[in-house]
Amino acid sequence: MRRRYRAGWVFTMCGAPIQDATVTVEDSQIVSIEETGIWHDAIDLSQWAIMPALINAHTHLEFSNLKHPLGTQGMTFPQWITEVIRYRQGFGENLAIEKAQAIRSGLKQCAELGVGVVGEIATLPLIEAAYDRPDVQVVSLLEMLGLDRDREQERLVQAREHAIYPWSNENVTPGLSPHAPYSAGMGMIQQCVQLSRKHQLPLAMHLAESLEELELLEQGTGPFRGMLENMGLFQERDFPGGRKPADYIKLLAPAYRAMVVHGNYLAEPDIALLRQYKETMSVCYCPRTHAYFHHDRHPLETLLADGIRVVLGTDSRASSPDLDIWAEVQHVRQTFPDIPDEQLLPMVTRDAAIALGVEDSFGTIDAGQKAMVSAFHIGADCSDVLAAMLGGRPRLWNLGVGLTQLDLATA
Ligand SMILES: [Zn+2]
Repeated sequence: MRRRYRAGWVFTMCGAPIQDATVTVEDSQIVSIEETGIWHDAIDLSQWAIMPALINAHTHLEFSNLKHPLGTQGMTFPQWITEVIRYRQGFGENLAIEKAQAIRSGLKQCAELGVGVVGEIATLPLIEAAYDRPDVQVVSLLEMLGLDRDREQERLVQAREHAIYPWSNENVTPGLSPHAPYSAGMGMIQQCVQLSRKHQLPLAMHLAESLEELELLEQGTGPFRGMLENMGLFQERDFPGGRKPADYIKLLAPAYRAMVVHGNYLAEPDIALLRQYKETMSVCYCPRTHAYFHHDRHPLETLLADGIRVVLGTDSRASSPDLDIWAEVQHVRQTFPDIPDEQLLPMVTRDAAIALGVEDSFGTIDAGQKAMVSAFHIGADCSDVLAAMLGGRPRLWNLGVGLTQLDLATA
C-alpha cells in the first residue's frame, strides 16, 4: 500500500535537510522524497522533523534489565569486568531465561527511545525468539572470547555457523565481535577477519578502551594480568609486551567492515592507521560509558578532523544508565561544544549504518531504504529546527504501516 507524508523538515542524511518535503512510501520501503508537489492525500506532519531511524552502534542487550551500572566509583576497569562476569554467573541455570527476558526488554527500550537499529554483541546460547521485534533491526555480532588455543577451533565453528545462520526473523543480520585484546587471541581475530571478508560481515572489537589494557599490551603487566592469572588464563606467550592498539588495527583492517569500539586511548600512530583504512573502519565512541569510567578526554575531535567515521553507542546498562542513544548525542554536544550540530547526526544514522554494514536499508531517507524514521515534534514556526531536535525526544515511526493518533500525540 502507498502512503504519503508531508513533513515540516526531512533530514535525509544524503544532502541538505529539506523543508516541506513529501515522502512517499510503499509497504515497508521509501519510494521518493519530493520538495515540491501538493498531494491532497498526504498526511500532515508539518509540525514534525524526521530523520532516519536512530542507530545505536554498540550495546550488549543481555544487560538491559540492570537498573544501575555495575561496580563502584574508583574501581579499576578489570574490577568492573570481574563484576560483569560475576553478574552473568549469578543467574546459574536461569541464564538463558534471564537473558531472553533482558534482550526483549532491551529491544522494547530501544524502540521507545526512537532507535531502529542496534549493533548487539550476542553471546551463546543465542535465543532467537528474544529478537522477535520487527520494528528494530538487530546486527547480531557474535562475541568471540578465548585465549586458549585448544578451544579456538570450536569457537570458529560457532562463528561460521553464526555467519550463515538462517534466522527466522527478518530483522536480524549477522556479524562477529572478537571481544578485546585481553580476551581474544590474535589468531582468532585473524580468523574472524577472514570470515568477515568471505561473508561480508561487520566486525566490532573493544580496543584502546583503558590504560590497564595498554599496559597489558605494552608490558604484559598490570591489573589485567592479575585478573587473567586469577582466572587461570594468563600465558606469557599471549602478552609478550611491545604491542599497541595499532597492531590490532592492522589485524582488523582487511575485514569487510571493522569497528573499533571505545578507542578512548587511541594515540597518533593508531589514528594514522585508521585514517589509512577509513573506507572500511570506524570508531564507536560510547560517551556516557566513557564518562562513567572517568577516562581521559576522548580523541573524538582529532578523529573527525582526520575524516575518520565516528559512530555512537550506549554500550550496555552495565556501564550506562539506559539505552538512550539520543542522550549520548546530547552528551557529546555538551562535552564537545565546538563540534557543529550537523556533524552529530551522521554518527547515529548514515555513518553508523555503514559501520554496521546495513547502509543499503538504513541510515538515510532515500528511495529504496526502509521506511523507519525518527520523528521530532518541532511545532509551528520553529526558527532553529536542529536545536529543537537536539533538545527534544525522538519517536520511532514505521511510515510503512501508517501512524496512529497515539504516534502523533505531542504530550
Ligand atoms: Zn561493549
